[in-house]
Amino acid sequence: MLMKKVGFYPGSFDPVTFGHLDIISRAAKLFDRLVVGVGIHHGKQALLNDETRISLLKSVIADLKIDESEIEVVTFDDLTVSAARSHGAQAIVRGLRDATDFDYEMQMFGTNHKMADDIDTIFLPASIETRFLAAKFVRQIAKMGGDITPFVPRIVADTIK
Ligand code: ADP
Repeated sequence: MLMKKVGFYPGSFDPVTFGHLDIISRAAKLFDRLVVGVGIHHGKQALLNDETRISLLKSVIADLKIDESEIEVVTFDDLTVSAARSHGAQAIVRGLRDATDFDYEMQMFGTNHKMADDIDTIFLPASIETRFLAAKFVRQIAKMGGDITPFVPRIVADTIK
């Protein structure tokens, strides 16, 4: 029997940006099923509450109209490797923008691999159009009343407004 390839893409998605969507649509082409995991960190100061982050993600993913893969949005509050495994994923997907991401992601990969060597990590390089994009800047701009429409889908900008 052919095993379905499942990827687990974790993040805070606070809010989901065009950078995340770029990774999601490219990762969807590599896996039969892509599980997007919204990390729930109790006590962490977020711009959007969990429910809003999840419903926005679902809505903008539906708008991508991707047919080649099943994409599912889930929440998790346990270790990334545990969440990946419980969803049947063989690999964690992460985006790499720059050397700062690289250093952090390599450490995380090393740590995760020690804990769970059955789960691999796949890095996708950020696309040229979105590699400067970071959710933390979008949060700052939004808090200061700036225009975030260059960075996020319309529905996200409207919801934050
Ligand atoms: P951020 O790092 O923007 O605050 P997250 O913590 O939700 O967002 O990140 C989840 C994953 O998405 C990470 O692997 C991160 O490197 C990746 N990512 C975030 N923004 C981009 C982007 N603009 N291009 C490519 N990958 C990105």
